[in-house]
Amino acid sequence: MSKLALLNGKKAVFENVGNMFNTGDMFQWPIVNSAMETGVLDVLHNCTMSGTDLTRRFEQEFATWNGVKYALGHNTGTASLQSAMYGVGLGAGDELICPSITYWASCVQALSLGASVVFADIDPETLCIAPGDIERHITPRTKAIMVVHYFGMPADMDPIMEIARRHHLKVIEDISHAQGGLYKGRMVGSIGDAAGCSLMTCKSFGVGEAGIMLTNDLEIYERAVVFGHYERHVELTDPLLKAGSGIPWGGYKYRMHQMSSIIALEQMKKYPAEMAEIDKAMNYFWDQLDGLPGLRSQRPAKDSGSTKGGWFSPHGIYVSEELGGLSISRFCDAIQAEGVTICSPGGNAPLHLHPLFHCVDVYGAGKPTNIVNLPDGIDIRQPDGSLPVAESIQKKMFYVPWFKHYKPEQIKPYADAFRKVIENYSELLPGDVIAEEVKGNWALSPRKG
Ligand SMILES: *Cc1c(COP(=O)(O)O)cnc(C)c1O
Repeated sequence: MSKLALLNGKKAVFENVGNMFNTGDMFQWPIVNSAMETGVLDVLHNCTMSGTDLTRRFEQEFATWNGVKYALGHNTGTASLQSAMYGVGLGAGDELICPSITYWASCVQALSLGASVVFADIDPETLCIAPGDIERHITPRTKAIMVVHYFGMPADMDPIMEIARRHHLKVIEDISHAQGGLYKGRMVGSIGDAAGCSLMTCKSFGVGEAGIMLTNDLEIYERAVVFGHYERHVELTDPLLKAGSGIPWGGYKYRMHQMSSIIALEQMKKYPAEMAEIDKAMNYFWDQLDGLPGLRSQRPAKDSGSTKGGWFSPHGIYVSEELGGLSISRFCDAIQAEGVTICSPGGNAPLHLHPLFHCVDVYGAGKPTNIVNLPDGIDIRQPDGSLPVAESIQKKMFYVPWFKHYKPEQIKPYADAFRKVIENYSELLPGDVIAEEVKGNWALSPRKG
């Protein structure tokens, strides 16, 4: 009989820790404590849900922690990134370069500013924007580059900033997966011209529905204020912005809910310690698998000074050629059968192929929105086949468990499951019929584990 659970052998994870569902607090996120509970009740009893006093305290602490001058709380990460786009001056007829593999809220807001989105390919190892693929997408209309530290992996900022400076482009960092992460010793989110991120429940800095924008540039900050924060217009110093103040220019109201702000303030106190423990736990898991054929971790080298912050939605990279061409679906089925239920193939689907960027006329202008403000005869839409890494990455990445606590005895069985499947992969080849191609998802579905 086979050793593999998929072929009726014994499960690796069941064998070692008993019931798979008996995982205790290993996958619980965010970690809600009694200070958060009391804080939320205080906000309710004081009727300060719509104030800004707690939000401002959080902004100050978050800015200090990140080493930037200004932070502006928002009701969602989507809004904070749109504010950053407006802040750097992205507008009608401009182009924003964004990696094709990311969550849609890294770029779709550009359309509502009248701008177009042009996608760049990703690097197959970091899964972040490939610095080498940026320049061919730069045109006289390019205004900014959106950099996403995907799954917490810091994007290679040095060459990106060099390209941006040489072409006079702004850089926005989307740190929704990476709060607290370092790129060569510097906080991600403090390197570009502005940053934005989600503070949604499931993200690494999980608070609830909220977002925050960061910048060192007063002009970017004040443009973000004028766009969606009418209640702060009295504080504007730029005379041009002030002259039009009182009504938010974007027609949006982006104020952060203070029940989120109080949770964020409490999260601020404990997140650095939680992040350190997650880093230890995840590195322990990957260290167990180092050197095995068929898979690679997506993490910075140990002596690089770079880290993954809270390790949001950790993924591994699959190398089918090293396992006799075994399909990722069959590989993940075998891992799941061992009791690692989280392990499924794929990540975010390639955005450049979505109809929204090709044919949808969102605002009824008689032309697809993504090209509506470009000069006649200019078409930046990118067909199938144009970004090869982004298009092939679904069969090269897979979910791994997101361990929140450093408990080696509990983590090891999960690593053992991967090792066992890899050591016995040849038994899986005969039944390997690729029934369906891995397509990826527009949003990552929340998963336990
Ligand atoms: C979640 C997410 C966002 C959007 O944040 P919301 O708080 O959901 O609006 C933006 N970018 C990335 C990369 C995300 O994962």
